Amino acid sequence: MNDYASRVLNGLKARNPHETEFLQAATEMLCSLTPALEKHPEFEQAGLLERFVEPERILAFRVPWVDDRGVTQVNRGYRVQYSSAIGPYKGGLRLHPSVNLSILKFLGLEQILKNSLTGLPIGGGKGGSDFDPKGKSDREVMAFCQSFMTELYRHIGADVDVPAGDIGTGSREIGYLYGQYKRITGRYEGVLTGKGLSYGGSLVRKEATGYGLCYFMQNMLAANKRKLSGATVVISGSGNVAIYACEKALELGAKVVAMSDSSGYVHDPKGIQLDVIKQIKEVERGRIREYARRVPGSDFTEGSTAIWNIPCDIALPCATQNELDLESAIALVRGGCYAVGEGANMPTTLPATEYLLEKGVLFAPGKAANAGGVATSALEMTQNSMRLSWSFCDVDAKLKEIMAGIFEKAADAAESYADCATNYVMGANIAGFLKVADAMMAQGIC
Ligand code: NDP
Repeated sequence: MNDYASRVLNGLKARNPHETEFLQAATEMLCSLTPALEKHPEFEQAGLLERFVEPERILAFRVPWVDDRGVTQVNRGYRVQYSSAIGPYKGGLRLHPSVNLSILKFLGLEQILKNSLTGLPIGGGKGGSDFDPKGKSDREVMAFCQSFMTELYRHIGADVDVPAGDIGTGSREIGYLYGQYKRITGRYEGVLTGKGLSYGGSLVRKEATGYGLCYFMQNMLAANKRKLSGATVVISGSGNVAIYACEKALELGAKVVAMSDSSGYVHDPKGIQLDVIKQIKEVERGRIREYARRVPGSDFTEGSTAIWNIPCDIALPCATQNELDLESAIALVRGGCYAVGEGANMPTTLPATEYLLEKGVLFAPGKAANAGGVATSALEMTQNSMRLSWSFCDVDAKLKEIMAGIFEKAADAAESYADCATNYVMGANIAGFLKVADAMMAQGIC
């Protein structure tokens, strides 16, 4: 890391000593930027990095709601409006008990680079709450969402800040949030993405992150004389990203042998039956252990980390941050894995990433590989402004093209700046950063 980046990182550590996830994401980004910073000494003069890592605005608010027993509950809501250099703030809302500012700032920082890589005019943001939708009734989820939006509505807008889904925020939650926004403001506008198809949603949005991940993998594998077809794949998670990554991987001829949730993982050597997973997860909102009860020949193991001990060609971590540590990376390499694609945000720890790169494993970083979700969200925004709905084929074709473009940008930047032309981590960070940096330089100190 060069002196300038290192001073900025030390400043962040001094100011945010307890924000471990945020510091991890900032360290990864700043380490990668060295060659670009050396080419652009004017960035230091303009305090560009100091401004880049500091969110433009952080909103934190109380979210009171009443549960089914008539008891008042209070959660904490947040929106981190990180960067509007290249477009309105854009990024999901996470509903999970672990949510805190460190996690939202790490996600927001990643989002700036990811959104830039899509080539679309969207800035970076992230938000959410420590509310846990799991085990709550629909009425409780609605009460929470209405209260959350009663504060958030004044800070967002179709040209200001456009939130979307993330962990714990699916179509049900987006529907309740949208209904409340419309009720308070009286405006029917594309203020949220991931909406239902009957009220302004886009075809392919539900599938976009998982499909986009597979499209990115196709491009990366092809550039390295490998392919998805015929590969054995392990996918962690069984939520939105994991399910549609599995669907596309199967369609492209891969065999998926394991999936997980936070309680454990199922291993099905004959190949995961996705219709059973969808029934359990999307229809029944059940636990993944149920799969092993329904599908003979499969088994369930308590605890999700040992999923990486299953031998595979390709690993797709699609659950949550830091789920793939050094020990898991070693197990993957031992099991013959030659490619890892991050469907989740920062699922791989820094030591694990370094180990995989060192071992020559092809590594697709989340900010590039999982950008299909936000890219399709931006296409939803376009359709909303135009008052049009594009067909599934049209949106899917645009998604494919965008993912190919993202791979090309990451690969070109790796080729130009990194020691190793397949260091797509460095390539994605530099390509994403330079576009935003250019806009920030043009806009002056703000
Ligand atoms: P969901 O809430 O739909 O699914 C999350 C899945 O991960 C669930 O199966 C959950 O299990 C599982 N999970 C959570 N924690 C763990 C853990 N410690 N070990 C194993 N499994 C775990 O979220 P998404 O699929 O939307 O998001 C997954 C990841 O992808 C997140 O990092 C998100 O930020 C990222 N992402 C999502 C995008 C989107 O469009 N949705 C876009 C880009 C990135 P359980 O049900 O037991 O909690």
